[in-house]
Amino acid sequence: MDSIKAIFNIGHGPSSSHTMGPRRAAERFRAQTPAAASYRVTLYGSLAATGQGHLTDKTIAEIFEPLQVEFVWLPKVILSLHTNGMKFEALDLKGITTSEWTAYSVGGGKIVDETSRKDEQSRYSHRTCSATLAGLEKQGMTYWEYVQNHEDSDIWDYLNEVWKTMQNAVQEGLETEGVLPGALNLRRKAASYYAKAKGYKENLQNRCLIMAYAMAVSEQNAAGKVVVTAPTCGSAGVLPATLYHLKQNHALSDRMILQAIATAGLFGNFVKYNASISGAEVGCQGEIGTACAMTSAAVNQLFGGTLRQIEYAAEMGLEHHLGLTCDPVCGLVQIPCIERNSFAALRAMDANLCAMLSDGHHFISFDQVVKTMKSTGKDLPSLYKETAEGGLALFGKR
Ligand code: SF4
Repeated sequence: MDSIKAIFNIGHGPSSSHTMGPRRAAERFRAQTPAAASYRVTLYGSLAATGQGHLTDKTIAEIFEPLQVEFVWLPKVILSLHTNGMKFEALDLKGITTSEWTAYSVGGGKIVDETSRKDEQSRYSHRTCSATLAGLEKQGMTYWEYVQNHEDSDIWDYLNEVWKTMQNAVQEGLETEGVLPGALNLRRKAASYYAKAKGYKENLQNRCLIMAYAMAVSEQNAAGKVVVTAPTCGSAGVLPATLYHLKQNHALSDRMILQAIATAGLFGNFVKYNASISGAEVGCQGEIGTACAMTSAAVNQLFGGTLRQIEYAAEMGLEHHLGLTCDPVCGLVQIPCIERNSFAALRAMDANLCAMLSDGHHFISFDQVVKTMKSTGKDLPSLYKETAEGGLALFGKR
């Protein structure tokens, strides 16, 4: 498994797989082809189907400026490694290809190509949650200590930057009003939800504030502002919303929050390694479901859960999103994505409660639900995997 830094990428929205990943790939190809006179970029599968709504072409074109880029869109062609394929070609003055590279954006901003081998140098000693849990119980160690032992010494500085960026995204999102970019002309809601939430009594207010915080981050993401993938841009609002709320309402130190983020990253890593966090590959269960699992684990740790209760909370966070489709209207990371972050944040709080009421023992393990999520994603028709061809996306077709 990779460093958890690869779960928490800081960058511009709206999509880690459709904007952050392609941007990184374009940067790499540009650096390798300094003599190019122009470029051709062919987008395949989901990248071609929803790339315009997700600003894939715009972000790639920015990297190659001031050179011309010709885009070829092939939504019906799925390459071998992943549906989010892209071929970069460097052209000379006569328009002849001098160099080409095919890359895949596999979720959370990660790029692979035919030469990449999965997890060649895993930095973690265990690759499943159950093996990790058994090891930790023997050693009397926490999840975050396990993360600390397997990451570089700058991990806490990095997570501190992550936490700062998450808080900024909440605060800026709450302060910004207006219409989000794109054909839907969708108005931002976080600021008004926040104002209304303040008028409610405590229990209701807590739930409403969490909704407003998640929306604030998700609206920032939809507007192409800086967010942190957790584990993706589309699901970037879930973890910050709950942590921000808990920080405001409980006497939690930043150190405790960073430790909770570390645990969240570990659970995100289990999903990323053993299944997928790419909506184009497994549907929204891999994005929002994973975000909810990560957040459930983090919240449960902050409330003093045991290793088994934390695992149980994460299991419920993912289990109750199984089968969730990815069908963004007009290919924009707005409907259903923004509200979905709010609901997942609340569900994470509920998963924490349910785990706390238990003794941590339960029937389906986190690993089993991850495996089920992967097979469910495989069985989902492509209509429901970020192609904007089915489900809610049909309401965006004119
Ligand atoms: S529906 Fe879910 S997976 Fe699809 S773009 Fe929206 S947040 Fe991402």
